[in-house]
Formats: sequence, C-alpha cells, structure tokens
Amino acid sequence: AEPVLKVENLKKYFPIKRGFIESLKGAPQRFVHAVDGVSFEIYKQQVFALVGESGCGKSTTGKLIVKLLEPTDGKIYLEGRDVTDIKTKEEILAYRRKVQMIFQDPFSSMNPRFRIFDVLEEPLLIHGIGETRAEREELIYKALEMVKITPPEDYVGRFPHMLSGGQRQRVAIARALILNPTFIVADEPVSMLDVSIRAEVLELMKELKEKTGVTYLYITHDMSTARYFADWMAVMYLGRIVEMGPAEKVIDNPLHPYTRALLAAVPEPKPERRNVIKELPIKGEVPSAVNIPPGCRFHPRCIYAQKGLCDAKQPQLIEYEHNHFAECHLVGKY
Ligand code: SF4
Ligand code: MG
Repeated sequence: AEPVLKVENLKKYFPIKRGFIESLKGAPQRFVHAVDGVSFEIYKQQVFALVGESGCGKSTTGKLIVKLLEPTDGKIYLEGRDVTDIKTKEEILAYRRKVQMIFQDPFSSMNPRFRIFDVLEEPLLIHGIGETRAEREELIYKALEMVKITPPEDYVGRFPHMLSGGQRQRVAIARALILNPTFIVADEPVSMLDVSIRAEVLELMKELKEKTGVTYLYITHDMSTARYFADWMAVMYLGRIVEMGPAEKVIDNPLHPYTRALLAAVPEPKPERRNVIKELPIKGEVPSAVNIPPGCRFHPRCIYAQKGLCDAKQPQLIEYEHNHFAECHLVGKY
C-alpha cells in the first residue's frame, strides 16, 4: 500500500537576524538548522509518534506538513501526490481540508469570543460545507457527539472558558474532524491536560481513528504517552531522526544511546522490565541548533562516543534489524 503521508529529506533552516556590528563586519548569514534532513512514511490509520526534547525540530516538522511553514528543502507527499510546492489559496485550502492540526493549547487556538457552535461552524464556512445553518448544525452536533461532548445542545452556547481543559481539547479534536480529514498532526495534544485525563483523550483519539479512518502524526516529548498511543515511533535529536521503528521495538529494544537515555528517564510500570533498560546518563545540555556539533550531533553527550569517528563523521540512518532504524556508527556494538 501507498503511504498516506511521506516526507523525504525535509529541511527547515531559519536565518538568524544579524546584529548591526555583525552586518557591518559582513559576517556570513547563519541559520538555525531546525529540521535537517528528515524522511519517513506514515501508513493509513497509523499513529506515528515523533518524540524528542523541546527544540529537536518535531513541532517544526509538524508545521511543515500542515503547510504553516515552507521547507528549505525536501519533499512532502500526501497519498502519493507531491504537495511540496502547492502555493495558491485554492490549493492550500483544499490541502487544509485533508490535513488538519491539533495544538497543545486549545485555548490559544480558539477565539474566546466564539461560542462552541461558532468554533465548529468556522471551518465549515471556510470550506463551504453545509448550505444552510440547519445542515451545519447537524454536522456540529454530530461532531460533538463523536468527541463525547453530550448532549451537544447543552454545550453549543458556551464559551471556551466555560469548559474544562479536557472538554476544550475534545472540541479542538471535533473542529479538526468535522472536515473529515485524511491526516491529523497532533502537537502535544494532551501535555497541558491533567495527568488523570490524558489517557482518556488519547483513547478517544484512537477510537475516532477506528471510526473515521484518519491517520495521526503524534508529536510529543513524552515517551510514556507515545508508548501507550503510538504504533510507530521516530526519535528526533537536533533536527535529525536518530531512531525509528514500530513503537514496541523502539521501546523494548532501543538501539540509539539517545533513545536509551530518554527511556531511562521514564518510570517503568512493569517491575520485570525495570532492569532491561539500564540507567544511562546523558552528559550536559542539548546544544543549540545554531552550533550543531560535527559528526554525530549527539557525540558531546554520548557516553559511547569514539574520538576520530563520532566527532568526525555524520552517521546515516540504517536498518539495523527488520523495520528498525538507527543513526549511530556503533549501533549494536555497545
Ligand atoms: Fe554515540 Fe557515536 Fe553513536 Fe553518536 S555515533 S550515538 S556519538 S556512539
Ligand atoms: Mg513543540
């Protein structure tokens, strides 16, 4: 089968504003390498998690996919069609109907003066769906029922601040689903919610995937929700994917030292697995994406780094075992 979404060697470099003195000296333009050559494929009804610390480029990747940003280089394909260079208003509008985004903070993505009805009617009006108000109302009620905001008539007249955080995020999910999209980019959709309701919202998203056939890119810094929610996982570090594979493979048999370090920080609920992942310290802080270390960009923090190799040569993402990829010179050797 063809992937629903495919990205190839995707790059996003942001120019850094030069100071007055720097520009007088004619200093060369410098760039933040936010996304630096990322490739992956996502198949129908998969939950593909993009995991990493803040600043690793995962949100930028999401914004490139929904076309809130233009890539510096690389390709994006939706259902086999090259959509990298779509530019006209009509093309972008048609694309947005198929590819929706859910943000971390539903509050900031909702007009506080809009009632829930208006929040959900807006995408319908933008995309010209539903000829009459009655038709749109029917779609709005259906969408609210799908996300279990029931009975809808009790909620359509409320303002966003009158809902709980979890209800607000479910309205944001309804707003994305009301267009019947093919693909949803969910950027940290539960990280601002109370721990006790995170699983509930992710469970709902899973259920909606079964019902509607939608496919998700799940962006998160949180290994434990990724483990629970995703069936495929890519770990990002400083703009590159350093490990990728089925979620259970990545979690049960992490290949990259960085993935191991991330997992070591997650409390392991199953006691029999506690000693599988040995404590692995990472040294220091994440370097900035402006001054990317040469060679393997993880080498200044890696306890296995070898002089002359890791600090000199950029490793490539290789398939170490079936479907399980890692970008490390020493994969399997430590
Ligand atoms: Fe560590 Fe070297 Fe592998 Fe990079 S390539 S993760 S520095 S062992
Ligand atoms: Mg982010």
